[in-house]
Amino acid sequence: SCNYSPEDFRRSFPLFQQPENRALVYLDNAATTQRPAAVIDAIADFYRHSNANTHRSSHRLARRATELVEETRAQAAAFLNARTSREVIFCRGATEALNLLANSLCAGLCEGDEIVLSTIEHHANLVPWQMMAQRYGLKLRYVPHIAGVPEFDRLEEVLNERTRIVSLTGGSNALGLRPDLAAIARQLRGRALHWIVDGSQLAAHEVIDVQATGCDFFVCSAHKFYGPTGVGLLYGREALLAAMPPWQGGGEMIAEVGLYHSEYAGLPHRFEAGTSSLGSLAGLNAAFAFLRQQDRSAMAAHEQSLVQRLHRELAQMPHLRLLSQPQHNLGIVAFAPVDGAPADLAHWLDERDIAVRVGNHCAQPLSRAAGVGATLRASVAGYTTWQDCEAFLHAVGEFQRVSATIPAENTAVAGWR
Ligand code: PMP
Repeated sequence: SCNYSPEDFRRSFPLFQQPENRALVYLDNAATTQRPAAVIDAIADFYRHSNANTHRSSHRLARRATELVEETRAQAAAFLNARTSREVIFCRGATEALNLLANSLCAGLCEGDEIVLSTIEHHANLVPWQMMAQRYGLKLRYVPHIAGVPEFDRLEEVLNERTRIVSLTGGSNALGLRPDLAAIARQLRGRALHWIVDGSQLAAHEVIDVQATGCDFFVCSAHKFYGPTGVGLLYGREALLAAMPPWQGGGEMIAEVGLYHSEYAGLPHRFEAGTSSLGSLAGLNAAFAFLRQQDRSAMAAHEQSLVQRLHRELAQMPHLRLLSQPQHNLGIVAFAPVDGAPADLAHWLDERDIAVRVGNHCAQPLSRAAGVGATLRASVAGYTTWQDCEAFLHAVGEFQRVSATIPAENTAVAGWR
């Protein structure tokens, strides 16, 4: 992190420059990051200068909008290191990408076929598969785990000749845990199944290379890597996408429409029914350009140093239970007060304008298996400074000192319930 300046990076983000946000300590980046001016401006510029619908060769603005979408797709292919733009589908987010995969892939499965998931998956990588399991009589299996934390090196134990889909996180949004994708790839090699990586947390912190990873599908959401909300990426190997039935029907995804039958468009448009979030795609294009200007490995090293320090310091606080681990961690520290309600601590932090997430972080099965209710999560980004971490650690320490002097049943009286 020697040459990297989070302060310089932060200057690109107008939200932090607003008078009301000068003291803000934003540690909720795993929920969503902030947007740089380049992204905000690109969204406004699209609607101000270029707004029209795409894929209609009728007029100048329509051509321009079409070019913008296809140019963004080429940038997305480069961002993921896909072989061709035809392997990139634009979705509403990682959630929609996973629903597309679940619906399209499971339509071809037989009763009794199996899908392998893990206990730290985001709800977006659980619920769609549960819906398909119910619809088609499929069986869900889970990677062996200890108190909810998967042992990915034991993935092979739950694979068999009925396994058709393995859909696993590339990085947990609840614990930060980053599985060893190469070790997963080794266990899956040579098996007739499809491997999906939920890269939502990963793409924010690491350079993605779907070819080197060797996965069949990869999903992520732009709003977690400084891009707009409402747009996500689905990567799929071209041959697999070409063989999949479309999920949603409508305009833009067809070649010929009759009253009883239609011919679908080719890749990638057959999976993009309807009008896309065009302003968001313009913003995404700007986000890719913005990221290309950054030294991403220096940024990752900086984030790592923050995560290591947060773990080191929180581990020394006697009244806290630390749930995340600093090893293989993608920017997250998860913790809870030993006694007292996590919501009280979150409220205490919020009163000091320190934004963290409290709850189950869209991973309820994990909280249940770990035997914890709500937890707090602080998550860093490229603009997170040492001062941010100090303010956060100081406030948590203060809470500890205050709550140690007040019996738990009196906390409501003390005014921070
Ligand atoms: N998977 C993971 C690991 C996530 O962190 C998120 C977003 N927090 C999602 C899936 C869902 O993404 P979205 O809500 O943007 O569709």
